[in-house]
Order: sequence, then structure tokens, then C-alpha cells
Amino acid sequence: MYLVLLGPPGAGKGTQATALSRDYGLAHISTGDMLRSAVRDGTQLGKEARDYMDRGALVPDELVTAMMRERLQRDDAKKGFILDGFPRNVAQAEQLDAILEELDQPLELVVNLQVPEAELIRRMTGRRVCPGCGESYHLVFNPPKSLGICDQCGEDLIQRDDDKEATVRARLEVYGRENAPLVDYYNATGLLVNVDGRGTVDQVYERIRGEVK
Ligand code: ADP
Ligand code: ADP
Ligand code: ZN
Repeated sequence: MYLVLLGPPGAGKGTQATALSRDYGLAHISTGDMLRSAVRDGTQLGKEARDYMDRGALVPDELVTAMMRERLQRDDAKKGFILDGFPRNVAQAEQLDAILEELDQPLELVVNLQVPEAELIRRMTGRRVCPGCGESYHLVFNPPKSLGICDQCGEDLIQRDDDKEATVRARLEVYGRENAPLVDYYNATGLLVNVDGRGTVDQVYERIRGEVK
């Protein structure tokens, strides 16, 4: 299954992608996680991306698509993947189509998670993430078994720098600008399904599963 998860920041893409990748044996490819690890490792890409991420802006398309071209060519992506956080605009969607055409792995499904803005802000401002494995938690909605510690790998959870309220608003603005054309693009291909992202993690998961044949 070759799948894209669309949705605003904080919608639950990472949470749902983690569960789907486990149950369906798909590679979970998150551009946000890849970029954050490049920043942490101090690579050239990380140095170039950092400032954009801190401001809640998009990292330039050339950098992100080059990173994805390399990632999608790896063996584990052949058996199926779920893209989380990419594409973010129409230019990236076109680049993705070109890459997948070369690989002869056309997209099969685009799930568009829909969540109202007030709920997104609650989800993002309470988000805590594991720097070790990327698992995402929430102080209230999805707490780890023991306070401040990752269930999966035992590392101390942190708050992302860009999950502070001012940056959250900037990210929502970017999303508001870029998303409608992207949804139109995928609607035209017939691959897009809208999924209600409200309710519990399990409820949303069941809705997505209903779309994955
Ligand atoms: P969220 O899951 O909250 O939407 P992400 O982890 O996907 O956030 O993204 C965090 C930041 O990383 C973005 O604000 C942006 O700066 C950068 N980023 C992630 N994916 C992309 C992308 N496809 N294109 C450009 N920038 C990206
Ligand atoms: P995204 O990758 O779309 O930015 P995440 O999966 O990181 O979103 O989820 C954002 C925050 O909301 C996290 O703190 C996560 O634990 C929490 N969350 C995810 N799904 C739900 C849900 N259905 N109900 C409440 N909180 C959720
Ligand atoms: Zn962890």
C-alpha cells in the first residue's frame, strides 16, 4: 500500500501513521522527523533547514524533495509506505508523482485528516515527543505510562520548540495557505478521502482502516 496522510499540524498524522505502519508493515516516512534528526545531527541539510523550522515556515521544496527522493529509493519503501508531512504543497506533490513514476510505485490512497483549529491548538500545545524514537504523546489525551518517559524506549520526553503557541499559529497559517490547492490536486486524481480526525486515537484509527482496502 502506497499511502499519503494529509492534515494540519497537530491533526494526529504521526500518531496514526505509527499505528498503521505497525499493523500493515509499511515504512513510516515522516519529513518532520527526518528534518529534526538532521538538525540534531548538525548535517548540512539540518543547518539549512533549522531557521525555517524555528519560524514555522516550510523548508524549501528542493531540500525536502531531494531528501525524499533518496528515502523513497530505499528497499523498505518498496513493500509499502505511509508519507506523513509530505507533500505540503502542489509543487511537492508534482515532484512526488515524478519520483514514484520513476520507481513504478504509484500512490494508491490519500487520507485527508480533518480537525477543527481549536482542537489542533490543544493537541499541539500539550504534545510531548520522544527524541529517541519519534513517538508522540500528549500530556492529557495520550500520556505515557510513566510521566515524562517514552513507553517504547525509556528516553525523556521533550516539547518541540515549534510547539510553543506563537509558532503553532504560524504553522497553521502556512497550512491554511497551502492546503486547499493540495486537496484540489488530489481530488482531481480520485485518490483523496476525507476522514474525520475528531474523537479518540482509536476512533480515528478505525475510520482510516475503513478506507484502507
Ligand atoms: P506537524 O506534524 O506538526 O505538522 P512536522 O513534523 O510535519 O509538523 O513538521 C515540522 C516542520 O518541519 C514544519 O513546520 C516545516 O518547517 C518542516 N517540514 C516538515 N515537512 C516538510 C515539508 N514536506 N516541506 C517543507 N517543510 C517541512
Ligand atoms: P501530527 O503528526 O499531525 O502533527 P501528532 O500525531 O503528533 O500530529 O498528534 C498531535 C498531538 O495530539 C500529540 O500530542 C498526540 O498525542 C495528540 N493526539 C493525536 N491524536 C489524537 C486524538 N485522536 N485525540 C487527542 N489527542 C490526539
Ligand atoms: Zn522513544
